[in-house]
Amino acid sequence: MPYEIVPLTLSYYEAEKGYMTYMTNYGQSIIRPFVVWFIRGASRNIIVDSGIEAQDYVAYHPSFKDLKVNHLQTFDQALASVGITPEQVDIVVQTHLHFDHCRNLKRCVNAEVLVQKAEYDFAMDPAPFAGIYRPALWEGADLRLIEGEYEIEPGLTLLPVPGHAAGGQAVLVETKSGTVAIAGMCTCQDNFYPQAGHPMVGDDHTLLPGILLNARDAYESMIRLRSRADRILALHDPDIIKQKVIS
Ligand SMILES: [Zn+2]
Repeated sequence: MPYEIVPLTLSYYEAEKGYMTYMTNYGQSIIRPFVVWFIRGASRNIIVDSGIEAQDYVAYHPSFKDLKVNHLQTFDQALASVGITPEQVDIVVQTHLHFDHCRNLKRCVNAEVLVQKAEYDFAMDPAPFAGIYRPALWEGADLRLIEGEYEIEPGLTLLPVPGHAAGGQAVLVETKSGTVAIAGMCTCQDNFYPQAGHPMVGDDHTLLPGILLNARDAYESMIRLRSRADRILALHDPDIIKQKVIS
């Protein structure tokens, strides 16, 4: 303590913004990055999400083959930039098991994988979301199923944030500038810091994610996140590509 967060963007594409923001911004586009978050300052090598490279994104599903997913760096290059290899990752926190967050999970052959039990249970029986969960991406990994809030190390805490996914979890990171949350749900900054004026933005200044399993749970998770963190980092915000370190 205190920790620093190093966002490592592997790939990005220009996506429909309505995927991110419930009932609004349809027809607008947003740059959607796919990020591995390295926690600097821990006693072990910890990453949050294992991300997806551009080539793996377009290969994931036949309907993605014409998507213009931009390559920034490989998983190996991203980890090398913080001085480690995939084999040296000790802990992978999976915020959830949607394919774009766990494609490189099994590259971390020596890692313990922290995932909420609720997420694992749903992911193994994911109707009607079967298209975005693929058990082959985590089968054989050393999964540790967490139930509820969990402290990885002092000042580094997992916080359940269901709603976008069944068992989504955020990571609360104590930094020099306060508690920073890695959001644990597919969002951009507009979800947590929206402009007023849309009927879906209420007095609580919260705009639901566009992809939802349970809107009420997601709403309560967002309120909980806001009460626990001084700053929230959305998982797919375009500005994260430019950020080098959050401390
Ligand atoms: Zn996502």
